[in-house]
Amino acid sequence: MHPIVILGSGLAGYNTARELRKTDKETPLTIISADSGSFYSKPMLSSAFGSGKTAQSIAMNSAEQMAAQLNATVRANTRVTAIDTAARTVSIGSESIAYSKLAIALGADQIRLPIAGDGATDIMTVNDLDDYAKFRNALKDKSTVALIGAGLIGSEFANDLTAGGHSVHVIDVAAYPLSRLLPPEGGALLQNKLAAIGVTWHLGTSVASIAKTDAKLKVMLADGTAFDADLALSAVGLRPRIALAQAAGITVNRGITVNRMHETSAPDVYALGDCVEIEGLVMPYVMPLMNSARALGATLGGKPTRVSYPAMPVLVKTPACPTVVAPPAVNATGKWEVTADGEGVEALFKSAEGKLLGYALNGKATAERAALTQQLPPVLI
Ligand SMILES: Cc1cc2nc3c(=O)[nH]c(=O)nc-3n(C[C@H](O)[C@H](O)[C@H](O)COP(=O)(O)OP(=O)(O)OC[C@H]3O[C@@H](n4cnc5c(N)ncnc54)[C@H](O)[C@@H]3O)c2cc1C
Repeated sequence: MHPIVILGSGLAGYNTARELRKTDKETPLTIISADSGSFYSKPMLSSAFGSGKTAQSIAMNSAEQMAAQLNATVRANTRVTAIDTAARTVSIGSESIAYSKLAIALGADQIRLPIAGDGATDIMTVNDLDDYAKFRNALKDKSTVALIGAGLIGSEFANDLTAGGHSVHVIDVAAYPLSRLLPPEGGALLQNKLAAIGVTWHLGTSVASIAKTDAKLKVMLADGTAFDADLALSAVGLRPRIALAQAAGITVNRGITVNRMHETSAPDVYALGDCVEIEGLVMPYVMPLMNSARALGATLGGKPTRVSYPAMPVLVKTPACPTVVAPPAVNATGKWEVTADGEGVEALFKSAEGKLLGYALNGKATAERAALTQQLPPVLI
């Protein structure tokens, strides 16, 4: 019998395997991963510098340990180069592996902005354990980091690197951090609290160029500001990895298109995690993929299961200003009601009937999280 094959050993791939093994301990299972195949929690990558964690200490299990736990073959450091949905195989260069069912959990790439200057190629991104190890190594004995992007991941890095003793300059075209998730009042509180621990903000502008000068980088901003940095880190967003699926003729949009059963347009090919778009939603967070992994693991184990998403607030790991967001649905109609003081901002998005459809909480207002989450509608019923 051909194995069930899972592409990717991130939280989506490994949790699907775990869920499958809850009911089916024997069906041959192969997990193929371009990285080391270590099991780790990716959100830790933007909150581990401050506490001095190494890549090894973040990895909870090696590929060998995961293989033993899951009764699976784990092919680590192995890049899949093609999927053939007619022949029901995946290719690793000239090698071909047949599948009975295929689950694509290939994640997302960090977006790279086109930036001028000979230092632009030195801009780093942190999207997996190997990147973390490289960045941590490059940071040794260095002090100043130019951080491009003040979204969720950028704001977390700003807090964490500052807590780790680095001097951090954050650059973003938006007027305030987390501008897609917070109202201006919440963004201002986050900005002020991070400034209070030492973050330097360059908002409403962009990086014009990065040039190499001796051992430093000279960062030029569009507003004319210039400063030296030891390293540049980019965190401007994620783009679902759709190329392999697209080349295989599988329907893609912003992500690989799946229905509530995680079925793609190809028979016996499923997808989940950061690489998918499900009912128009691209949700690159842990809670959606955990719900998906439970459903898909059951489906692969022979019990077809449709996924539901409850309300899934996202905790932003900025201890200088605790923040939690549960954005309203894209098509939700209503308006924000904002209550703010110097220590907290409560922003509630309500329908015309007064029903809570989303929220953004900062500082002391995060104490209301549990009570407010109970009032939110599910994301996918
Ligand atoms: C720094 C950072 C902080 C975050 N913080 C939070 C947070 O606080 N809360 C939250 O909810 N979410 C957070 N996220 C998002 C969350 O981590 C992701 O949603 C989640 O980890 C995605 O898991 P995944 O398995 O879909 O993808 P990934 O973890 O990206 O896994 C993709 C897998 O596919 C493999 N792969 C890729 N291409 C190939 C190929 N061609 N062949 C074989 N294998 C391949 C990779 O090697 C990898 O094993 C954060 C993300 C980052 C980067």
